[in-house]
Amino acid sequence: MEELQEPYWKQIHYRDSTIVDLHAHPSLKVSLFKKTLTRGHRAAKMFDPFSVRTDISKLRKGGLDAMLSVIYAPEAQIAEDCKPLGILRYVMPSTWRKIFEQPYFDVANQMLDEMEKAVEDAGPDLRMAHSVTELNAILEMGENRPIAVVHCIEGANSLSEDLDSVQHFFDRGVAYITLAHFYPNGVAYPCYPFPEPMQVGDCFQPDHDLTPGLTTLGEQVVEKMTDLGMLIDVSHCTPAARERVYDIVGNRAPLMATHVGAYEINPDPYNLTDWEIRKIADTGGIVGVIFMNYWLMPHETGRGINFITHTLRHFKNVGGIDHVGIGSDFDGFTDPPDDLKDASELPKLTQRLVAEGYTSEEIGKIWGGNALRVLREGWKKQ
Ligand SMILES: [Zn+2]
Repeated sequence: MEELQEPYWKQIHYRDSTIVDLHAHPSLKVSLFKKTLTRGHRAAKMFDPFSVRTDISKLRKGGLDAMLSVIYAPEAQIAEDCKPLGILRYVMPSTWRKIFEQPYFDVANQMLDEMEKAVEDAGPDLRMAHSVTELNAILEMGENRPIAVVHCIEGANSLSEDLDSVQHFFDRGVAYITLAHFYPNGVAYPCYPFPEPMQVGDCFQPDHDLTPGLTTLGEQVVEKMTDLGMLIDVSHCTPAARERVYDIVGNRAPLMATHVGAYEINPDPYNLTDWEIRKIADTGGIVGVIFMNYWLMPHETGRGINFITHTLRHFKNVGGIDHVGIGSDFDGFTDPPDDLKDASELPKLTQRLVAEGYTSEEIGKIWGGNALRVLREGWKKQ
């Protein structure tokens, strides 16, 4: 009997490409809700903070090779900004104390510890990579190797306004810091991050002041990260803060915007203008497309692979195929597209890219080739 040939897209996804997610948040589910990654979880189509979209079975099914695992020490303003959330103090008292009654620096370190433990508990399926050397070693292990997990931090509030924290996290193996997140943090000012559907009642009312950029400490942090060889992610920064980062770093290090959309397609200040896409490409950096319709192209439909590929094509046309990547933002309290709702569905994107005429080489660059190049060039931790 003639053997059935493996579909072309399968070969590209599972064999030819190294699949890297530039931005995912399993740590939030591990640290806040004590979820284990070794169990298969339900992943809802709608916005659901309790869904787990990056457990091991999903990562394996999705063919993931490396995950940039991002920790976030929740900012105290969240509870002030949305009073009803104050109830969590009574519903989840130990979590509340853990995240809101310690310095951010300590919370961040605890979350890094908890992620390390989750990776250890996962046995042969996951392994921490604290440096490029360790990352390369894992990727060279051959079939059924562990998925490499790399620490990253979102929100420079985790530095607790101390420049020395940069060195500390670099030494711990943190590859990049996303400078801004939801609120001003002593380093950088953010774009308004909450989608309209979250602005219910008095919660999360937008503040649209986009004029501030980096603080003086922020400029020192950017300088220090560049000197050390720690990558800088400009996602969430105001356009003014992003521009300041481009000026300070120049061409000394590859820059990243790990989970964004294109301003030309959806004119929200969170998204990158064409000028910025070229600017980041000039540094040898990478622009990762986020899996969330609200930022890519707000639309009545829940489906979103089309918007992802539309944005990818724009990034490619403007910055070039060598500067495009994927930052799903899974488990980051996002609302991913219904047709790409968790890590197990990543191969659907490859299938679509093949249908749109991308070559195997191009798809390999989008999925991981570019991300690995940026890590190898810009992350100087030995
Ligand atoms: Zn984010």
